[in-house]
Amino acid sequence: MNRLQDKVAIITGSGRGIGRETALLFAHEGAKVVVSDIDSALGEQTATEIRRAGGTAIFVRADVSQRADAQLLAETTAKEFGRIDILVNNAGILRDATLLKMTEEQFDQVISVNLKGVFNCTQAVAPIMIQQGKGKIINVSSVVALYGNFGQTNYVAAKAGVIGMTKVWARELGRKGICVNAVCPGFISTEMVKSVPEKILEAMKEKVPLGRLGEPREVAQLFLFLASDEANYINGAVISIDGGITV
Ligand code: NAP
Repeated sequence: MNRLQDKVAIITGSGRGIGRETALLFAHEGAKVVVSDIDSALGEQTATEIRRAGGTAIFVRADVSQRADAQLLAETTAKEFGRIDILVNNAGILRDATLLKMTEEQFDQVISVNLKGVFNCTQAVAPIMIQQGKGKIINVSSVVALYGNFGQTNYVAAKAGVIGMTKVWARELGRKGICVNAVCPGFISTEMVKSVPEKILEAMKEKVPLGRLGEPREVAQLFLFLASDEANYINGAVISIDGGITV
C-alpha cells in the first residue's frame, strides 16, 4: 500500500536537492505532486522525471518570496487536483557573511525567501486545508537555528523564525485538523552544501557522530513519514535529522 496514495502535495524548491528527492519519493508513494521552484528548467525536469516513471506531477513556477506567486501556486493546485493535502515549505537560499560584512541586501534576501516565503505559502494554502478539515505542513528549518552558526546571521534568524511560526500554526491550525511540524536537517549533501569550502566541509563531517553528511533521500524519508497518516498525532514538533551533530 502506498503511503501517500492520491494525496496532493506541494513541494517548494523541488527543482533540485532535498526538494527534488522529496518530490520523487512522494510520487513513488502515490502522491499527486506539484513541483514548484523559481527555476523553471529544473522544476520541469523533476516533474517530467516523475511522469516518465508513471507518477502524477505538474510544475508551477513560483518565487516563494512573492505573495502573488504563492497565491497562484495554491490556486493552480486546487484547480488541477481539487485539494491540497501536504505542503512542504522547502525552498531556501544562503547568502553567508559575518555580521560586520553582511549587506542589507543579503539580510533581506534570505529573510524574504527563507522566512517570508514560508509565511506566504502557508497563508495561501491554509484556507484550503481548513476547508478540508485536514492537512500536513512541513516547514524546513535547520540545525543551525538551534545552535547558531558562524557567518549566518540572516539564515539562522530566518530558520529560527520558521520554528517559531511552526509552533504558532500548530496551535492555530491544529484545531482545524492540520498538523504543522518543523524539520531541522544537519549537513546534507546538496548543491547548497557544495558551495561550502572543502576545509570547512571536512571540519563539519568531523563534528557529526555518524562521521558523514546526510543524503537528501534520508531527509525526504522523514518528510514522507510526517506527511503520511502514520504521523497524525505529531503536531508542533521540531525534529532534527543530523547524524547526531546536536547531541
Ligand atoms: P538547494 O539544493 O539549493 O535547493 C533549493 C531549491 O530552492 C533550488 O532549486 C532553488 O532554486 C530553489 N529556490 C531558491 N530560491 C527560491 C525561491 N525564492 N522560490 C522558490 N524556490 C527557490 O537546497 P537544499 O540543500 O536542497 O535545501 C533545501 C532546504 O533545506 C532549504 O530550506 C535549506 O535551507 C534547508 N537545509 C538544507 C541543509 C543542507 O545541508 N543542504 C541543511 C539544513 C537545512 P535555484 O536553483 O534557482 O536557486
